[in-house]
Amino acid sequence: MSKAAILDGKAVAARVRAEVRVRAAGFTAAHGRAPGLAVVKVGSDPASAVYVRNKRLACDEAGIESFAFDLPDHIARAALVAQVKALNDAPEVDGILVQLPLPNGLDANEIMDLVDPAKDVDGFHPYNTGLLAQKRPRLRPCTPFGVIRLAQEYGIGLTGLRATVVGASNIVGRPMALELMLAGATVTVCHTRTRDLQSEVERAELVVAAVGKPGMVRGAWIRPGAAVFDVGINRTEAGRLVGDVEYAVAAERAAWITPVPGGIGPMTIAMLLSNTVDAAERRAHG
Ligand code: NAD
Repeated sequence: MSKAAILDGKAVAARVRAEVRVRAAGFTAAHGRAPGLAVVKVGSDPASAVYVRNKRLACDEAGIESFAFDLPDHIARAALVAQVKALNDAPEVDGILVQLPLPNGLDANEIMDLVDPAKDVDGFHPYNTGLLAQKRPRLRPCTPFGVIRLAQEYGIGLTGLRATVVGASNIVGRPMALELMLAGATVTVCHTRTRDLQSEVERAELVVAAVGKPGMVRGAWIRPGAAVFDVGINRTEAGRLVGDVEYAVAAERAAWITPVPGGIGPMTIAMLLSNTVDAAERRAHG
């Protein structure tokens, strides 16, 4: 029997989306057009196709206009560059999302750097990451922002908390550490070179797992009473989705835990919608 309270990302995401819907309707009434999100998919990666479809459906439901750009696997670098620049210049586009990973031969950093920071609703541009690092966040990376919002909704106080982030990628682990610092936590970041992952997790009052390896954060490592946020999305051979945390054992020890699916995944999409309305309002009002 699980003792932890389940952090219901699906339910909280629905609340965030309802807020977004109200704000999007207000924007549409004031400006004669809906907030606009360009969703660029390059190539035929099946997982990307699912993510992109879900993001477009979520836009429709929130009253955000989504502009679809499905580009071929072998698109020339110059053509993709031209597409992103055209979206930067398009007045009806408030947000630009380039679904990652890009096919081999295209440099994701180069493409992300081209996105106008004012339209960077993924929060991946170095300008937005830099602002977050300097404690003046603007467009914030959706997954870490979603973790913070979920914690807030459940009244989990982050100030002074000892937090361990497992994973140090540019899109999840690093901005997660910056968000937690912004929220007043004392943060440790673990990665492939970390000497003793177990003891770093055992000390943590809050754990974020963002590695991409099923069950690699053992349930027995979780400090009793900790809050556990599992960002990992892994598909088992049987086709099930599982996180990075050994859920059943961890749920016996933690006070709060996110499920996979239904935890951070829905929060990520909700924060993308929220960022899009933020970007639209900021572009409209300066
Ligand atoms: P990534 O591969 O870019 O980064 C993985 C990180 O884990 C690296 O920093 C690496 O150093 C670290 N790592 C790998 N093995 C380790 C080990 N043994 N010990 C400690 N650290 C180790 O992955 P990512 O893009 O950050 O994504 C991580 C996971 O989160 C994936 O499963 C991805 O699918 C998932 N994800 C989920 C969402 C969501 O909305 N829920 C969003 C983005 C990513």
